[in-house]
Amino acid sequence: MPRYDPLSPAQRSERMSRILNADTKPEMIVRRLVHGMGYRYALHVKALPGNPDLVFRPRSKVIFVHGCFWHQHRCRQYRMPKTKHLFWEPKLAKNKARDGRNQRELRRLGWRTLTIWECQLKTGTVLKSRIKRFLGT
Ligand SMILES: [Zn+2]
Repeated sequence: MPRYDPLSPAQRSERMSRILNADTKPEMIVRRLVHGMGYRYALHVKALPGNPDLVFRPRSKVIFVHGCFWHQHRCRQYRMPKTKHLFWEPKLAKNKARDGRNQRELRRLGWRTLTIWECQLKTGTVLKSRIKRFLGT
């Protein structure tokens, strides 16, 4: 008997995109940190490739906050679910390819990019000085 799935494919993909685009916790942590350091930014600028999470217009710089799973960071936190491997792998590979394209496109347009990974949020002061180095004073 086929497994019962209460969601239609359209509903499922709508739910997925909501999860992917939500103000995720790692992003909130970075926002608070950056704001607390005195920098001001715009959020999710749709006109820019990849909708960067934090946009520093006068500096022509953007910060992406990436979840290790969704964006395929090869770190300890990154784990491909064993059972749903065939389901996830193409989707996640697509995410990663798209990230690369967006960042190249941003650079081409004169933007500098910094990617902060979920697993780097715990590094506290190291992360802070990375952000400061990137954004300048
Ligand atoms: Zn990671």
